[in-house]
Order: sequence, then structure tokens, then C-alpha cells
Amino acid sequence: MPRDDISTHFRRREFACKCGCGFDTVDLETLVLLEDIRTHFDVPITINSGCRCEAYNRQVGGAAASQHLLGRAADIRVQGIDSGVVATYVETQHPDASVGRYNTFTHVDTRTSGHARWGG
Ligand SMILES: [Zn+2]
Ligand SMILES: [Zn+2]
Repeated sequence: MPRDDISTHFRRREFACKCGCGFDTVDLETLVLLEDIRTHFDVPITINSGCRCEAYNRQVGGAAASQHLLGRAADIRVQGIDSGVVATYVETQHPDASVGRYNTFTHVDTRTSGHARWGG
């Protein structure tokens, strides 16, 4: 695998904070979850937002305790699949994962404080 690859289908830079600070440490559980979603739908996944530093999270209006700050969250688009279909898949197949429903993307995270569900 090229050095930037951190799993079969994802590269570290895809998770990097968009502000350019270099924060790109994605949680392993989150990566495993994303690989499962990738395998299930068998199409490419775009990471709209992965890791966020405090400053960038504030800039984009993220929640103060956002899991993006911990590298445990990803806002994803699964190519050609409705965001609601992705959300329902994760909710049913990964009951411990947290899911946020949005029109154009799906938020998933692997918080350890009990799962959350919102949107929809
Ligand atoms: Zn940053
Ligand atoms: Zn998110």
C-alpha cells in the first residue's frame, strides 16, 4: 500500500482537518466502521469532514463536544446512495454507532458515551 493508505479504501489525507493544521488521526473503530459501509454499498465514499481542530470546528459551527475533535467522526457521502439509506444501514447494522441525518451527507461516529441519533 502507498504510505498514505490507512486501510483498504481510505487514505489518511482524506480525514485531515480542512484548515491545514495537519490533524489527521482518525480513530481505528471509525475507520473499521467506514470500511464496512464501503464494503456493503461497494461504491466510493467521500469524506466531507473528518478530523477537526478546535479552531476549525468553531469556524464551521460544530458542536462544542463534537466527535470530529477526537477523530472519531466522519461526514460521508456514499456515491449514488441516498444519505437516508446510508443512515438507516448504519443504525440497523451498527447499533453502537452514532448517526446524524442530513440531506446531502450522513454523519457517523463511534463515541464511547452511548450512541446518539439525530436529524431525519
Ligand atoms: Zn485544523
Ligand atoms: Zn459530523
